Amino acid sequence: MDQSSERIAMTERLSHQGINDARVLRSMATVPRERFLPSSERSHAYEGGPQPIGEGQTMSAPWIVAFQVQAMQLPDHARVLEVGTGSGYAAAVLAACGATVVTVERHAALAERAREALAGYDVEVRVGDGHLGAPDRAPFDGIVVTAMADAELPPELVDQLAPGAALVCPVGGQGGGELLRHRDGRVERLVDVQFVPLVRDEHPGRGGRTRTDRG
Ligand code: SAH
Repeated sequence: MDQSSERIAMTERLSHQGINDARVLRSMATVPRERFLPSSERSHAYEGGPQPIGEGQTMSAPWIVAFQVQAMQLPDHARVLEVGTGSGYAAAVLAACGATVVTVERHAALAERAREALAGYDVEVRVGDGHLGAPDRAPFDGIVVTAMADAELPPELVDQLAPGAALVCPVGGQGGGELLRHRDGRVERLVDVQFVPLVRDEHPGRGGRTRTDRG
C-alpha cells in the first residue's frame, strides 16, 4: 500500500502543531516512516503516536521527532550525532534534512534492523553506550538524544558540541521529564516530554552490554 497521502497529511498536521522549519517538514514528507517499523505495525505508521519496534522500545511520535530536529537549529550540511537509533526513523529524517549522521544504539538487534532500513541514507549506525558519544567524529553541529537521561545532561556529549551547536536531550524520570537544550553553556527548558530511559551500562566491556546485545 502506498502511504504517501498519509505522509503528506501527517506533515500538514505537524505544521498546525507548530512545526515551522521547512527542511523538517519537507524531509518528513519524503521519508517513508512505515519502512522503519516491523511489518505488523506498518499500517499504524501515520497515527500520530509512538510505535513499538521490539526490545521494549518505541519509535517516537512524529511531532517529537520533528520538534527535536527543529530544536537543534542546524546549519546546512550539518554533522549530527543521535543517541538512541531505535528504528532509525529520526536518523533518516536528519539525513533527509541534509545532515551527515552518526547514530548510537545499545541494542545490537535494533541497530542491525535500523542499518538495513537506512540503506541509501548518509547515516552511520554504531552499537554502544551513547552516553559516550562518538569522540572520533566530534565536534558536532548538533546532538540529539532520543531517550530520557536520569539526572543531568551527559557531560561527554556536551564536550562533543561545536561552538554554537545545541544538545537537545530529555532529562527526568519515568513519570516524565523535560526536553532541555544546551548551547554555549546555557540550558533552556523547551517542553514536557515522556521517553524510554537512557540506560547507563554499569560495567561497559565487562558483560553488561554484551548480555543486552545478545538479548
Ligand atoms: N530515535 C528513535 C527513537 C528510539 S527510542 C527512532 O526514531 O525510532 C530510544 C532508543 O534509545 C531505544 O532504541 C533504546 O534502546 C536506546 N538507548 C537507550 N539507552 C541508550 C544508550 N545508553 N545508548 C544508546 N542507545 C540507548
